[in-house]
Amino acid sequence: MHRNITFRLAPGSAAKAEKVSQTAGAGRWVWNRVLAETKEQYRLHCDTPRFCEDTLLGMCFERPAKPSLTFFSLGKRFKELRAETPWLQSLPCAPVRYALKRQADAWKRTFTDPKAGFPKFKARRGDDSFTIPQNVTIRIDSITGVRRLWIPKIGWCVLRRSGGNPYDAHVPKQAVVKRVLGRWYCTVCYEVPDELVAPHDNGRTLGLDRNVGQVATSGGEILHTPEVAKLQGRENRYQRMMDRRRKGSKRRALARHRRASVSRKLAMIRANWQHHASRDLVSTAGTVVVEKLDIEAMTKSAKGTARRPGSRVRAKARLNRGILDTGWGGLRDKLAYKVADLIEVDPAYTSQTCSHCGHVAKDNRRSQASFECRACGRYGNADINAALNILARGTGASGRRGAWALAPPMNRQRDIPAVAADAAT
Ligand SMILES: [Zn+2]
Repeated sequence: MHRNITFRLAPGSAAKAEKVSQTAGAGRWVWNRVLAETKEQYRLHCDTPRFCEDTLLGMCFERPAKPSLTFFSLGKRFKELRAETPWLQSLPCAPVRYALKRQADAWKRTFTDPKAGFPKFKARRGDDSFTIPQNVTIRIDSITGVRRLWIPKIGWCVLRRSGGNPYDAHVPKQAVVKRVLGRWYCTVCYEVPDELVAPHDNGRTLGLDRNVGQVATSGGEILHTPEVAKLQGRENRYQRMMDRRRKGSKRRALARHRRASVSRKLAMIRANWQHHASRDLVSTAGTVVVEKLDIEAMTKSAKGTARRPGSRVRAKARLNRGILDTGWGGLRDKLAYKVADLIEVDPAYTSQTCSHCGHVAKDNRRSQASFECRACGRYGNADINAALNILARGTGASGRRGAWALAPPMNRQRDIPAVAADAAT
């Protein structure tokens, strides 16, 4: 199994930092250069009819061949480019060429994934990255314990990470060096034996109801997402500041940078919460049942079209923000790799059904928060009731009284092996 660990990367000297930056820039340059060529070839191929006769000249043109879009062919093009471009030769070959592996993958998606469009050109402003595709060498100083990564033609660069690295003893397979807001990071992919990171299954099952700002469990607990309104306010303020400033100006770039650092902070807070919440849930139950949600469809704008404008557009926009802020997708993804079994069920009517007697009615739900069954009178938290229904659907149980016994209240004591607990990256 593979596990990724992200470090801060310190090149160590201005000259090395410049070289790291150049390598990432070269990857972008090669990407754009080759993409322009292949796109043009592809366009010519598509625009030319199969047989094209020019009646005036009495000639017949052959249709240009469809360009080969595999890494093998794009890589060959890189070899030519490198031979004719002196400045490319002073930079590491494999990491720059690997940009074209990503491009080949992007082309593949163009033809297989209906949602994916054509590969896009990379802007200079974007955070550049490059990949060391193989032979990743990390040396650990035996006295100081300092980790260093070898980047060909650049040298040793220090890798730092608070909390250390649980996979130091394992084989690093690939490393991605990336600049985020002016700082360099390196994500190393380690090959870890399956048994070391295998999910721990204690045989219990837990149902989850995800709601805006919180997640309710069938064990009766409610996990609240962190309060980030203040940061969001700051993010919006910087966004407005940026919009006011003239395009291309330094002041606008400054506002963009500030907005981006707040956005990144928000993303980190969310991801951190998701990791902690999913780890807590996994220590409680080996199997987790969640609602199958189409987040993209759910967070679609209610704007409608000019001829048929939608209603309650602002309210829907606020709800969408709430859904996205909670990070449902992120929590689900993190659960998926930590938990022994993740079951997704259809969420229809789970919030209107009584988990005790099974009575389904819209007015069971007295308010957003409280639930009172019209048939049996059961009263309680609406989200926990929904979580119980989801659990019942996932386990195929009758969904009534028995469900309460399936998962005990969440056990905060982590009854899992120490190594697996560190698997969160
Ligand atoms: Zn009932």
